[in-house]
Amino acid sequence: MDDPTFILHHLHEGDLPNHAVSPPIFQTSIFSYPGYEEFREVLRDESHRFLYTRGLNPTVLLAEQKIAALEKAEEAKILSSGVSAISHGIMAFVKAGDHVVCVEDCYGWTRTLLSSYLPRFNVSVTYVDGTDSDAVIRAFKPETRVIYLESPSSLTFKLQDLPVIAAAAKERHIKTITDNTWATPIFCNPLSMGIDLVLHSGSKYFSGASDIVAGVIAGSREDIERIRRQEFSQLGTVPDPFMVWLMLRGMRTLHIRMKAHYESALRVAAFLEKHPKVERVFYPLLDSYDQRELARKLFRGGSGLFSFTVRTRNLADIKKFTDAFRLFKRAVSWGGYESLVFPAAIATPREEDIPPDRLNLIRLHIGLENPDLLIEDLEGALKHIG
Ligand SMILES: *Cc1c(COP(=O)(O)O)cnc(C)c1O
Repeated sequence: MDDPTFILHHLHEGDLPNHAVSPPIFQTSIFSYPGYEEFREVLRDESHRFLYTRGLNPTVLLAEQKIAALEKAEEAKILSSGVSAISHGIMAFVKAGDHVVCVEDCYGWTRTLLSSYLPRFNVSVTYVDGTDSDAVIRAFKPETRVIYLESPSSLTFKLQDLPVIAAAAKERHIKTITDNTWATPIFCNPLSMGIDLVLHSGSKYFSGASDIVAGVIAGSREDIERIRRQEFSQLGTVPDPFMVWLMLRGMRTLHIRMKAHYESALRVAAFLEKHPKVERVFYPLLDSYDQRELARKLFRGGSGLFSFTVRTRNLADIKKFTDAFRLFKRAVSWGGYESLVFPAAIATPREEDIPPDRLNLIRLHIGLENPDLLIEDLEGALKHIG
């Protein structure tokens, strides 16, 4: 049964203790055993047996089994943040002298890892325009071990042709990893397109309530075992059982929330597209989007996150626009029930360094409020442009 609602509501919940409906939180760091022999046996395999929550915990295991099923993966590993899923996924498959190909406009901390941290260990990176599959393939070198994808990319929402890139990488024995946080497994299953490993920031839609920080990576048993043995065991990026329990609770409604985010985002994007103060809207599933055909090949629907540019070159306008929102909250991250606004310019520490293509770029997260209220809020804020 691979129906997402079966997975989210029933999978591995047939015999919960004391006939409970909600799975218990095993908020325990250690597990005890009745005698020497059994204790010794468990001690030999602490990542698959319940010995110490740094290795495995029943609440964590339940969520891992559900996410693996949703992503059509053999196994999944939950980690303490999306960033740990990114670093573990990449680091598990490289050694000194190796090379990584990564899409430009990837999540900011992915870039920091590849440009600043991994060079210390003599791992190099080439960034590519992911919209051009040939350019991606041309960047492969004999020492390339990993290709890191994020479709759509952060802030710019550019797509990569996952099946085409996965097939080319497979021929060369290069691991493909993709960040699927935006679409979630409700709308996209990269493993079914030939990708090796899929990862998520669980802080976004898996939670749905902006109340946790979490990450997860899913793939073959062999690949997840490698991550578990190496990076997870060595670096100690342990998820807390209560955090995972909150994630499980959030996931009960994932399919319903995604549908609502999608419908509202399309409505708000369509409104913005017609607004005279708006230049361009970057939402992959809009009819006007230049990669719409690829978007329909990759995604069964879209999330609440997209960006657009406003008609101004003036930072003062962007500041007034940002300050004017009454419902959209000014915050980082996304994926909760609330709507958020993030002006891209704000991420550059010195105002004189703001790249011209980021000055007037605005990212929105469309939450679960009535979209009419959100459109009204945007209409008011856009009065400050130009
Ligand atoms: C937020 C985010 C991450 C990082 O996840 P954290 O849980 O914040 O560490 C990774 N990728 C994407 C696309 C994100 O939006």
